[in-house]
Amino acid sequence: MSELNQGKLQGKHAVVTGGGRGIGAAIADALAAEGVRLTLLGRNEEVLKAKAETLPDAVPLACDVTNRDAVEDIFGKARENYGPVDILVNNAGAAHPSPFMKTSPDDLQAMLDVNLMGPWHCIQAALPDMLEKGNGRIVNIASTAALIGYKYVTAYSAAKHAVQGMTRSLALELANKGITINSVCPGFTETDIAFDAIENIMNKTGRSRDEAIAELAKHNPQKRFIQPEEVASAVLWLCEDINRSMTGQAISVAGGEVM
Ligand code: NDP
Repeated sequence: MSELNQGKLQGKHAVVTGGGRGIGAAIADALAAEGVRLTLLGRNEEVLKAKAETLPDAVPLACDVTNRDAVEDIFGKARENYGPVDILVNNAGAAHPSPFMKTSPDDLQAMLDVNLMGPWHCIQAALPDMLEKGNGRIVNIASTAALIGYKYVTAYSAAKHAVQGMTRSLALELANKGITINSVCPGFTETDIAFDAIENIMNKTGRSRDEAIAELAKHNPQKRFIQPEEVASAVLWLCEDINRSMTGQAISVAGGEVM
């Protein structure tokens, strides 16, 4: 028990998708502070490079997680840099709100591609390393929209609910292999996604910025936006060795919005 309690992540290799900005950048900071070596994935190489330069041991690799061949290729490069992957954080995601009848099959597919298939491809690329070691941590940044419904985000919510379904079932497949998989489910968090949602409300309803912010923040019983660092803290906790019994869970970081 004592060695589990050490909770040491020093020297482990984590891949964080969407690690250049927003919640992913905060997760990268939190893991780096524990001595984790980081591979940061995302489409915008400049953003990734700028983030990696702020960290002691991080390599930026440009990759669109919806492209399976690119994902396989990039995990090969990540392994060349830092060896087998110990931790995978599926954080890359996108939300494009629209009323249901204005959401085309292509819109739905786009949400599934980035929010579900991206994590799916990355897990299949990382798992062989974890299975070989008999140890690993997978954390998916889902959303409260993986657990409850909201208006005007049917495609996003469908994709995020699917992530949680995958998480629960895969947790059972991996239960006796030393690998855990969980979701962290933030409420509205102060990043570009929330800023885009604020703009969207202002444009569609004519409300002021403050009114749009209040509209989104009202979902959170604490009446505020979550900070990216709060989400990162939950991710870090799930990555600790001592938390090996946490698997298949959806941890809401949402001020009590979901319980
Ligand atoms: P941001 O828009 O700030 O960041 C999204 C990240 O995902 C960027 O780093 C982006 O990098 C990356 N990304 C998007 N599409 C792709 C792609 N196809 N391939 C690779 N990387 C991609 O959003 P957040 O930080 O807020 O979001 C992070 C996660 O948190 C998402 O999964 C989101 O659904 C979830 N979430 C966010 C909430 C919020 O209110 N902010 C609430 C609940 C969940 P690049 O553009 O360079 O590719």
